[in-house]
Amino acid sequence: MSPNGSALDTPPAGAGPDPIAARAHLLNADSVGTYRRTVIEGVDRVAARVATADRPFTGVSPEALAPLVAGIDLDRPLGDTAAALDELHDVWLRDAVWFHHPRYLAHLNCPVVIPALLGEAVLSAVNSSVDTWDQSAGATLMERRLVEWTVGRIGLGPGADGIFTSGGTQSNLQAMLLAREETHRRVVGGAAERPSRADVLSRLRIITSAAGHFSVQKAAKLLGLGAEAVLTVPTDAGRRMRTDELARTIARCRDEGLVVMAVVATAGTTDFGTIDPLPQIADVCAAAGVWLHVDAAYGCGLLVSPTRRHLLDGIERADSVTVDYHKSFFQPVSSSALLVRDARVLRHATWHADYLNPARAVEKGIPNQVDKSIQTTRRFDACKLWLTLRIMGPDAIGSLFDQVVDLAAEAWRMLDADPRFEVAARSQLSTVVFRYVPPGADPSVVDEANLHAREALSASGAALVAGTKVDGAHYLKFTLLNPETTVDDIAAVLDLIAGHASWYADTRSAAALACPVG
Ligand SMILES: *Cc1c(COP(=O)(O)O)cnc(C)c1O
Repeated sequence: MSPNGSALDTPPAGAGPDPIAARAHLLNADSVGTYRRTVIEGVDRVAARVATADRPFTGVSPEALAPLVAGIDLDRPLGDTAAALDELHDVWLRDAVWFHHPRYLAHLNCPVVIPALLGEAVLSAVNSSVDTWDQSAGATLMERRLVEWTVGRIGLGPGADGIFTSGGTQSNLQAMLLAREETHRRVVGGAAERPSRADVLSRLRIITSAAGHFSVQKAAKLLGLGAEAVLTVPTDAGRRMRTDELARTIARCRDEGLVVMAVVATAGTTDFGTIDPLPQIADVCAAAGVWLHVDAAYGCGLLVSPTRRHLLDGIERADSVTVDYHKSFFQPVSSSALLVRDARVLRHATWHADYLNPARAVEKGIPNQVDKSIQTTRRFDACKLWLTLRIMGPDAIGSLFDQVVDLAAEAWRMLDADPRFEVAARSQLSTVVFRYVPPGADPSVVDEANLHAREALSASGAALVAGTKVDGAHYLKFTLLNPETTVDDIAAVLDLIAGHASWYADTRSAAALACPVG
């Protein structure tokens, strides 16, 4: 309906869009030539931009870009692919952040493998929705094979299953949903007098380590438990969950009449790349009868590592596991999965609708994935991993991940030997947390100098690094996921950081001398 007329008004002859022209944009047997040309035009633009990206970022500010984006009239189409791609270049591609660049060292974003990009192009054109068989056919079976394959790599056993999700946050949320429902069932089943649901929910607690991911707190909020339901136990010097503290926290909850519904162990903490002691945590959980969820959003790449799979020992004892293929399997966003030891627990995500997934269809043995998912319409993201495995194979992916883990170990040694810097816990994966603090540095400016260095580096676009806090102090962080990054890149970026930080510290000290205040 137009803003100034009713839908029933007949448009004057000759006015309004041409219905036939509008239909020319639909992908169908008549338009495959346009489809090919259009997509190739886009691919060519990306290829040209990637080929000339000499920095990971241009350093553009939100203030500079916002007017360009705001100035575009979305109601007035350009009507032309080339013009739209030119405009896209101006508002996005020119200043995008390039994860493939060897000096992108910031967050858990990987360069992507070409077989997965092929998968992305194919899956969005076919547009299967992996919710029901009648919207996906083979795609449902392929996703199931990849779930089986992942479950096999983890070692969850013959009763296991899982589902692809949009990311680690969603995987963790669904894991907590399943744990909540299983725990609720157990508590109600074991009670002499049936407690109310509200009473049970108010007593549920989730335990993770102080280095766990914030999506656990978010999940607790979304599940009606509140972020306070998440208890964090301290980590040891290596930033791994302290098992003695975990056991103590579980005992304390029991004494207080609280019910621990899940322990979330992290296999690859986002900041420190450390892996909680999974076998010991599994022992504690088994003894207490508590659901063990392993958040391997980052560490899942070890599942295919030719040399380091043992770092995940104990993961096979989990009740549920999060993996993010879009972090350490070099897949484009989104690609993630939740795996569970006992397929039956996925029923907590099931609801039957007559129009979609009637119980009748399930009884007939028609496979569907919607009964296992908290989404309905869902992308066939599994296609990307499928083509990756079929073209490259798992060892090649594992080798890429191994290379960045080796690089991080080398970067840690460099930083440890460099008097300008201090390094935090040694990563088992591919992060390095450090800060600029040269001998004799004025402690009052160290935090600010590190913050400044990160911002100045980003504004120059020469390299991107992340920042975090360790015990209240500002640190910098490399997350290394690009096997093309070299030791020389790391050395050069450290020099840039030291340059920016020392300039800041010197300027501040000079200002303090010129104008002393208290
Ligand atoms: C990244 C990350 C998540 C969240 O995953 P998304 O895919 O970003 O939603 C969860 N846990 C850990 C440990 C992570 O590193």
